[in-house]
Amino acid sequence: MLLPESCSVKVDGVECRLPPAHVVSVQSKDGEYMLAVVCDDHIAGLKGRLRVLQKEGKMPLGKIRFQPVIAVVTDCVTGIEEDYVEIELKRGVDSERKA
Ligand SMILES: [Zn+2]
Repeated sequence: MLLPESCSVKVDGVECRLPPAHVVSVQSKDGEYMLAVVCDDHIAGLKGRLRVLQKEGKMPLGKIRFQPVIAVVTDCVTGIEEDYVEIELKRGVDSERKA
Protein backbone atom coordinates (compact mmCIF):
# COMPACT_ATOMS: atom_id res chain seq x y z
CA MET A 1 0.00 0.00 0.00
CA LEU A 2 1.37 3.40 -1.00
CA LEU A 3 1.06 6.01 1.75
CA PRO A 4 1.26 9.80 1.60
CA GLU A 5 4.48 11.24 3.07
CA SER A 6 2.83 13.54 5.57
CA CYS A 7 -0.22 13.83 7.81
CA SER A 8 -3.52 14.54 5.98
CA VAL A 9 -4.73 17.13 8.50
CA LYS A 10 -4.84 20.86 7.74
CA VAL A 11 -4.64 23.38 10.57
CA ASP A 12 -6.07 26.81 9.66
CA GLY A 13 -5.68 25.88 5.98
CA VAL A 14 -2.00 24.89 6.34
CA GLU A 15 -1.05 21.25 5.70
CA CYS A 16 0.59 19.41 8.60
CA ARG A 17 4.09 18.30 7.54
CA LEU A 18 4.69 15.68 10.22
CA PRO A 19 5.23 12.07 9.07
CA PRO A 20 2.09 9.92 9.39
CA ALA A 21 1.94 7.65 12.45
CA HIS A 22 -1.47 6.06 11.79
CA VAL A 23 -3.55 4.97 8.81
CA VAL A 24 -7.21 5.93 9.16
CA SER A 25 -9.88 3.74 7.57
CA VAL A 26 -13.61 3.21 7.87
CA GLN A 27 -15.28 -0.19 7.95
CA SER A 28 -18.60 0.11 6.14
CA LYS A 29 -20.91 -2.69 5.03
CA ASP A 30 -19.37 -2.59 1.52
CA GLY A 31 -15.80 -3.07 2.76
CA GLU A 32 -12.94 -1.13 4.32
CA TYR A 33 -11.87 2.22 2.86
CA MET A 34 -8.59 4.01 3.61
CA LEU A 35 -9.44 7.65 4.32
CA ALA A 36 -6.27 9.41 5.37
CA VAL A 37 -3.01 9.21 7.31
CA VAL A 38 -2.43 11.15 10.50
CA CYS A 39 0.43 12.07 12.86
CA ASP A 40 0.27 11.47 16.64
CA ASP A 41 -0.70 15.08 17.34
CA HIS A 42 -3.83 15.12 15.19
CA ILE A 43 -5.56 11.80 15.95
CA ALA A 44 -8.13 13.30 18.33
CA GLY A 45 -8.93 16.21 16.04
CA LEU A 46 -9.30 13.97 12.99
CA LYS A 47 -11.62 11.56 14.84
CA GLY A 48 -13.99 14.39 15.72
CA ARG A 49 -13.91 15.73 12.16
CA LEU A 50 -14.67 12.30 10.64
CA ARG A 51 -17.69 11.82 12.91
CA VAL A 52 -19.09 15.15 11.67
CA LEU A 53 -18.52 14.12 8.04
CA GLN A 54 -20.34 10.82 8.67
CA LYS A 55 -23.30 12.66 10.19
CA GLU A 56 -23.43 14.98 7.18
CA GLY A 57 -23.33 11.98 4.81
CA LYS A 58 -20.00 13.08 3.23
CA MET A 59 -18.22 9.79 3.92
CA PRO A 60 -19.35 6.15 4.36
CA LEU A 61 -20.91 5.23 7.69
CA GLY A 62 -19.09 2.62 9.76
CA LYS A 63 -16.49 2.08 12.45
CA ILE A 64 -13.44 4.35 12.13
CA ARG A 65 -10.16 2.46 12.62
CA PHE A 66 -6.66 3.77 13.39
CA GLN A 67 -3.74 1.42 12.61
CA PRO A 68 -0.11 2.30 13.41
CA VAL A 69 2.34 2.78 10.52
CA ILE A 70 5.39 0.83 11.66
CA ALA A 71 7.43 -0.60 8.77
CA VAL A 72 7.73 2.59 6.71
CA VAL A 73 9.05 4.78 9.52
CA THR A 74 11.61 2.21 10.81
CA ASP A 75 13.21 1.63 7.37
CA CYS A 76 13.62 5.35 6.79
CA VAL A 77 15.38 6.08 10.10
CA THR A 78 17.88 3.17 9.74
CA GLY A 79 19.03 4.39 6.29
CA ILE A 80 19.78 7.90 7.55
CA GLU A 81 21.89 6.66 10.47
CA GLU A 82 24.10 4.49 8.24
CA ASP A 83 24.87 7.38 5.88
CA TYR A 84 25.80 9.67 8.76
CA VAL A 85 28.34 7.22 10.26
CA GLU A 86 30.09 6.74 6.89
CA ILE A 87 30.64 10.49 6.37
CA GLU A 88 32.10 10.90 9.86
CA LEU A 89 34.69 8.12 9.27
CA LYS A 90 35.92 9.63 5.98
CA ARG A 91 36.46 13.03 7.60
CA GLY A 92 38.56 11.38 10.33
CA VAL A 93 40.94 9.82 7.78
CA ASP A 94 41.47 13.12 5.92
CA SER A 95 42.49 15.11 8.99
CA GLU A 96 45.06 12.45 10.05
CA ARG A 97 46.85 12.68 6.65
CA LYS A 98 47.25 16.47 6.91
CA ALA A 99 48.83 16.28 10.39
ZN1 LIG B 1 -0.58 16.17 11.78
